Amino acid sequence: MRIRVLGCSGGIYQGAATTSFLIDDDILIDAGSGAAELTLEQMRAVRHIFLTHAHLDHIVSIPLLADSVFGHLVGNPIIVHAQQETLDVLQAHIFNSQIWPDFTALPDRSRAVLRLEAMPPGSRTEIHGRSIEMIAVNHVVPGVGYRVESTGRSFAFSGDTTSSENLWAALNSHDDLDLLFIESAYANRDIGLARSACHYCPQLLSEDLARLKHRPQVGITHLHPGEEAAIMNECREALPGWDLRQLKSGDVFVLERKDNNE
Ligand SMILES: [Zn+2]
Ligand SMILES: [Zn+2]
Repeated sequence: MRIRVLGCSGGIYQGAATTSFLIDDDILIDAGSGAAELTLEQMRAVRHIFLTHAHLDHIVSIPLLADSVFGHLVGNPIIVHAQQETLDVLQAHIFNSQIWPDFTALPDRSRAVLRLEAMPPGSRTEIHGRSIEMIAVNHVVPGVGYRVESTGRSFAFSGDTTSSENLWAALNSHDDLDLLFIESAYANRDIGLARSACHYCPQLLSEDLARLKHRPQVGITHLHPGEEAAIMNECREALPGWDLRQLKSGDVFVLERKDNNE
């Protein structure tokens, strides 16, 4: 399994784009502004988009991407997986023929270029050897994270969340976790904002990471623009001994097949 970071910032500016991760060639987890890093050919290869929640920084590229490769998708839709509440928001507020055409019904219902498929938190979907589990988290709107497993290797992404019992319980219910992308949107001085907007800051994150029984490599994501260095310094201070890095657009992680004797 290969994971490419297309965008991982809490905002946009030159060189920074919002959340989108490409799994192998065909699966996006979130489609924030980072998805615009893909070439047309790479966009045409995307068959599935798994959404963590409906906030704009995680979905903004879906309507534009669908338009860009529209002809290729007729009769060959991209499947958008999310919990029902998230799909309802997309349908009502994006694909409503006002903000954007309703690509779930174009060029007609039977050949629509986007198919919205509801997935309940706690369930798993299997896509060509990759098992994708949706995990409910604690955000200001209904939100989830994902755990993706392939050839004995596993990767998890928190989505946007603040302190959450469920995320850690779900990750601990498995025997391993190789790689974790977790958000820390704010610095500790903004802990009040982190709590009210349902994001982590390094202090809240370190309290929660102590519950995790695994020791994965950790990529910190969703850093607020301009605060990156401060947040990362606080993360390193709060999480001594952890293999931590600040995620950057363009990062690629390859989780090689686990041999039986490993
Ligand atoms: Zn959010
Ligand atoms: Zn966000």
